[in-house]
Amino acid sequence: MRTLFDRFYTLGIWLQALIVTLSATIGADLLTLFFYSIFFSDRLTLDLILTAIITVAIAYPISYVFLSKTAMVARLAVELDKAATTDFLTGLRNRRDFMQAAQDQINGAMSSAGAVLFVDVDHFKRINDQFGHAEGDRILVLVAEAIRASVRDEDIAARVGGEEFAIFMPGADLPAARRVSERIWLNCRLVARGSDQGGITTTVSIGLSMHRPHQSLDDLLKEADSLLYKAKKAGRDQVAHIQPHEVVA
Ligand code: GH3
Ligand code: MG
Ligand code: MG
Repeated sequence: MRTLFDRFYTLGIWLQALIVTLSATIGADLLTLFFYSIFFSDRLTLDLILTAIITVAIAYPISYVFLSKTAMVARLAVELDKAATTDFLTGLRNRRDFMQAAQDQINGAMSSAGAVLFVDVDHFKRINDQFGHAEGDRILVLVAEAIRASVRDEDIAARVGGEEFAIFMPGADLPAARRVSERIWLNCRLVARGSDQGGITTTVSIGLSMHRPHQSLDDLLKEADSLLYKAKKAGRDQVAHIQPHEVVA
């Protein structure tokens, strides 16, 4: 039944209204047939025709208007959902959606749920200060594109802060996560090279942590953040990753 309704709503509004009108006309004519054959059987044909005309004239415009509104509400619901989960500047997921999707991955994971990468643009404030906010925004879009081009389809990539990005890689082991982090690091340098201005090179620092069985999302993200900090302290423009069996303070 549900699939029948779903299919109905995929039809054009005029067709939906036509189906509703036809159903109403058949219903109205059946009732006319029932009552008029008892009381006014002599003018049954005329009454059936009149009932059909009246029903079509009333039902079609009304159902068209209401079905248009229903379609508009459905469209707005989709747009609202997209706006609530998407970062408006880069088109990646936003922080809220990242947290939800990453939590879903961790929930019920018996072994490691995968890897997390924190990517932060180096000295981004300088880019803004020197070239303006609009140029800063343009570079954020390029970095997001570089990230999108570097990750797998199943990876969860998001812009989680001003110039901060996070990627959750479901089921990835350390070598796979390292490969992706190095690809992001390189691709960010490549896109940035194309947009270099006045000798400033845009680079990123990356913290890579691995989920351990039963580790909370909060702890996993704290580890990725600590590793990012380590990469920054070590001179930026590099990836810091957790060593096997290491616990980051
Ligand atoms: P670090 O290498 O330590 O990360 O230095 P940083 O300058 O990148 O970091 P800091 O946190 O000092 O500055 C981040 C800057 O990002 C400051 C803020 O103005 C800028 N920013 C935040 N959100 C946006 C945005 O949406 N667009 C632009 N253009 N700039 C933003
Ligand atoms: Mg930052
Ligand atoms: Mg930064």
